Amino acid sequence: MARHLITSAIPYINGIKHLGNLVGSQLPADLFARYQRARGNEVLFLCATDEHGTPAELAAAKAGKPVAEYCAEMHEVQAQIAEGFRLSFDHFGRSSSPQNHKLTQHFAGVLADRGLIREVSETQMYSPTDGRFLPDRYIEGTCPNCGFEDARGDQCDNCTKQLDPVELINPRSVISGATDLEMRETKHLFLRQSTMKDELEKWIDSKTDWPVLTTSIAKKWLNDGDGLQDRGITRDLDWGIPVKKGNADWPGMEGKVFYVWFDAPIEYIACAQEWVDAGKGSDWQRWWRTDKGADDVTYTQFMGKDNVPFHTLSFPATILGSGEPWKLVDYIKSFNYLNYDGGQFSTSRGRGVFMDQALEILPADYWRWWLLSHAPESSDAEFTWENFQSSVNKDLADVLGNFASRVTKFCRSKFGEVVPEGGAYGPREEQLIADLTAKIREYEGFMAHAEVRKSATALRAAWVLGNEYLQEAAPWSTFKTDPEAAAAQIRLALNVIRLYAVISAPFIPDASAQLLTALNTQNDSWPDDVPAALASLPAGHSFAVPEVTFRKITDAEREEWQARFAGKRD
Ligand SMILES: [Zn+2]
Repeated sequence: MARHLITSAIPYINGIKHLGNLVGSQLPADLFARYQRARGNEVLFLCATDEHGTPAELAAAKAGKPVAEYCAEMHEVQAQIAEGFRLSFDHFGRSSSPQNHKLTQHFAGVLADRGLIREVSETQMYSPTDGRFLPDRYIEGTCPNCGFEDARGDQCDNCTKQLDPVELINPRSVISGATDLEMRETKHLFLRQSTMKDELEKWIDSKTDWPVLTTSIAKKWLNDGDGLQDRGITRDLDWGIPVKKGNADWPGMEGKVFYVWFDAPIEYIACAQEWVDAGKGSDWQRWWRTDKGADDVTYTQFMGKDNVPFHTLSFPATILGSGEPWKLVDYIKSFNYLNYDGGQFSTSRGRGVFMDQALEILPADYWRWWLLSHAPESSDAEFTWENFQSSVNKDLADVLGNFASRVTKFCRSKFGEVVPEGGAYGPREEQLIADLTAKIREYEGFMAHAEVRKSATALRAAWVLGNEYLQEAAPWSTFKTDPEAAAAQIRLALNVIRLYAVISAPFIPDASAQLLTALNTQNDSWPDDVPAALASLPAGHSFAVPEVTFRKITDAEREEWQARFAGKRD
């Protein structure tokens, strides 16, 4: 039995994510986890909310809540939506957990002991009125380029010029409106990634099986311009993990926290500790420590392309730099972006479908199928309502749903709700069994490598094989002249429904469970031996005609949703 550690990039806490976020990390990770479990492998699938940093503070302030309370609430909201989409995390943790605090401080201490952290003095805007240093986004003022009065410290929204807060005319604090800002000296810690460039490059060069999208982004950061730069890992903020050297105070770093991008990936490890502390598992180290049993673990990460630099360079720099036997990632699966109907998803303009809204409209399986079968793997992809309607109506309703419905209803009308006996398989039946065997082996090959779109294509092709067989065998005609032969055809077709339920479960778990329930079986074992799997429902086994598995989306619905999610015009 192989062991698979699987993590999805952890979603940021400030709000509900859109479908593009879902298909860029959590959903394909879930597909892979469900597949590995179905094959009998041992899986630990982890995700969490990413809770620190300025945007969390700002979102909490906007909601009028203390940031800790805001994060606790939003974590629950995201956890429930994840459940709605049937994301099968073994644990959904929080980067603000005590476990992550301790582990992040531990890594910083070890890295400092090994000479991989340096202190840098900088000057930064300080607000005496607020009693704190102000991050760029906490400062607004007049844009020196266009005169716009509400330009942010990092960028002017009017002319899009990238700014440094010191360039702003009449800068003011976003928190209090105070204008008595001054430049003060402050110290920060930098991770000396530049000294680890050769080691990181050697490691990335050894990953010859990684997607080009992943390695090309990593190589760019390693070599473009002046090459890999040291990275600041602390911030002057209240909300975050206090800077400590292991358990000890860090002189000069009082009142500072670690930068969110330093602590967020460490949460992958801390999350496994949370999983144990929540009573769901007994030993996290055998997943994460190569000296405690993790050397036979295959670790796969899923993420959008914007997260690749941190996962190929910064987090590995933390792990390698520690000199401790932590498990390094084996495979990084990265995704391009999903666009929405001729543009981008936009949270501020309410443009596109967000995860909670999607579940209000249709059950999770409809979305899972479309998103996964259109995953933005080799290039960006686009969601359109026409494509969604056509994919759901054809693939799910016409091909899979219709097969299950026709076979079970025909059986009920001629033989009753029981697998019919009699007759024998002929060449056409043997051909179907051989074709399904070949297609399932192909599907397994794609699934094992997290080739999401190709897996969906192979699965759909397997569904089509059943429909083609049904059209050619035409048991409704056969029955008139040779009821025994029709019985054999339907016996096979009922077993094909069970087979579909099993192999489709990683994509559409609810429909799969519904079909197995209707077929009155709990046998969901993977068809390693396809002919044997197609004999698992014996003659005489009773079943019930399933409810409609997938309904069609009407043109009126499509138009209504198109208008509803088009977003507000500026
Ligand atoms: Zn401007």
